[in-house]
Amino acid sequence: MARVARTVIVKSVKIPRKLFRVFVELEGMYRNIVEQLTMFAVRNSIKSFTKLKALKYREVRSLYPQLPSHYIYTACQDASTRVKGFLRLKKLGFAGREYPEVRRVSIWLDDHLWKPGGYTSIRIATHKGWINIEVEAHKQYWRYVNHGWKLASEVKIKFDRRNRQLLIYLTFIKDVEEYKPRGYLPLDVNENNVAVLVDDIAYLFETDTRKLVLGYHYRRKRIQEKYDKLYGKKSRAKRKVLKKLKERKKKLDIRWKIANIIVRTAYERRYAIVVEKLGKRVANNMAKRVKDKQLRHRIFQASFKGIQKAVEEKAREHGVPVIYINPKNTSKLCPIHNSPIIYSNGSRIGTCSKSKELWHRDIVACWNLLLKAQRGDGSNAPSPIKRSVDGWVMPLPTTATHEPTALKKGLWARRKSLPLTQNATALNRMKMVGTNGIVKHVASILEERGMLK
Ligand SMILES: [Zn+2]
Repeated sequence: MARVARTVIVKSVKIPRKLFRVFVELEGMYRNIVEQLTMFAVRNSIKSFTKLKALKYREVRSLYPQLPSHYIYTACQDASTRVKGFLRLKKLGFAGREYPEVRRVSIWLDDHLWKPGGYTSIRIATHKGWINIEVEAHKQYWRYVNHGWKLASEVKIKFDRRNRQLLIYLTFIKDVEEYKPRGYLPLDVNENNVAVLVDDIAYLFETDTRKLVLGYHYRRKRIQEKYDKLYGKKSRAKRKVLKKLKERKKKLDIRWKIANIIVRTAYERRYAIVVEKLGKRVANNMAKRVKDKQLRHRIFQASFKGIQKAVEEKAREHGVPVIYINPKNTSKLCPIHNSPIIYSNGSRIGTCSKSKELWHRDIVACWNLLLKAQRGDGSNAPSPIKRSVDGWVMPLPTTATHEPTALKKGLWARRKSLPLTQNATALNRMKMVGTNGIVKHVASILEERGMLK
């Protein structure tokens, strides 16, 4: 059983000025307490919440007798979290100052300090008694409420002073049981696509992450330059435009869409998802061509880890097991002959050095992930099916069309999962033309040889 948690932000309705002032006061006191505690803890190198509370509770309590006492507990938790982070940075030499700066504050509330009032309001304990606040429940919020998620007892609140609203950070939790996998769905994230292998059929989701990331980066840069020239470095106009751009980018974010399709496909079949254990190496091939250091970093962050993380997160939520495989050689060795595949100058199509059959790089990786998973092999053992196929020639025509047919974005973006049966859908008919011929062939060979369970 695993516990999954998600944070959902809801806003309160606009709060009357007088009432809002109570919250501003509350925030002021809370901030002071956290600042004091943080200073004290850093000075005395105290990382533990319990120790901090034991040493400071009485003193702080007597300074703020009007405040509900649990604010001191949560402030201790807040402070000790900050201190832990700060001391870690300091140890690495990144801290840059003596004490952590308490700049942004969100007030931590435990179950003594807030209560849900039905589904559309919450009550908050303050120095002026309990205050009831209506919230604007939104679609995402209801989705969690209606799908068996429960509210955790901790909540954080922040303030939007300009609009006199509370931002309430709710945590929804769900206990999910992972099922025992009946099969495997390998997934390989590449520069321009995400490849999956479902029941021996390979699908390539076209993503073109590079173009997306770079496009966004340059657009952002152009806006920055333009606004800096017009209004100076710190203009509000610029911030506003950049925020809009960011929101749009989020909306167009394909990661979640892909993750949903893949996880749902695995879930329907009760399969485990098989992925590469991501190391630092992942985006290197892609980033090599990009000079700008910061941009490299961005690509590294955004594309590869992003898609895989989204899949992992969705999988956890639905109890879909995820199996990690050492990526060593997954795209370099022929899954059938265990011999190197030769890719000539940057081509995605390679030739098996042993038997001369052709392979598409992204699909080779999927096959190897599948085979490694079936052998229960998370290690970096050289390659799968050694010896058992030695000396055996694979009868694939070298002239066949091996370029897999990719799923254009327009085609998969509206889908919920991949088809269960092999006929019927346009998606499948499309696939039949491309990879299928080859991939199915590989499947039948492996099956004959008893390598595919
Ligand atoms: Zn081969």
